[in-house]
Amino acid sequence: MDKIGHKAYHDTLNVKAWACFGCPIACGRHTEIMEGKYKGESGGGPEYETVGAFGSKCYVDDLNAITEAGYICNRMGLDTISTGQTIASAMEWFEKGLIDLETTGGIDLSFGNAEAMVKMTEMIAKREGFGRKDEKLPERLSKEPAPDGLGKGQVANAEVMLDEFYESMGWDKETGHPKDETLMRLKLK
Ligand code: SF4
Repeated sequence: MDKIGHKAYHDTLNVKAWACFGCPIACGRHTEIMEGKYKGESGGGPEYETVGAFGSKCYVDDLNAITEAGYICNRMGLDTISTGQTIASAMEWFEKGLIDLETTGGIDLSFGNAEAMVKMTEMIAKREGFGRKDEKLPERLSKEPAPDGLGKGQVANAEVMLDEFYESMGWDKETGHPKDETLMRLKLK
């Protein structure tokens, strides 16, 4: 706790308060990582729950790594709490032997592995390991016509929806992975 608590937050990161227009509370924080592998990175947060998810839940006490994971989520539009909790769950399964190095593609998901935690955040952001082949609708939605409502009689066409969604996201329509230009625009490549 000493390593990721309030004092450490201010000792480790270059912190500036941030406020919505006219608000005297200024609950937001803008930070910059001052040393180590992620030195020079800056952005919003990490907020309390972000530190809890990437830090306490993953047993990671490296505040710079926690902050970097939060920045990646902010850039990619990922919710930091859900992302951190998901990685924490995977770490627990790894610890309990429910998944192993073969399942994780060789990533050591032991509790406290800060590098693996950041790596997993990047992989989630880039959709590595998943793609179009995994995008499946529940059978009822893809086979049974809707019984009422505006879509009465229609069956959801996942292929058409996926094409439109990938196009809007800047993802490759065949693989379902972000295009190189999209990753570069989001500073993930
Ligand atoms: S409390 Fe925080 S979120 Fe709410 S208006 Fe003030 S700065 Fe914005």
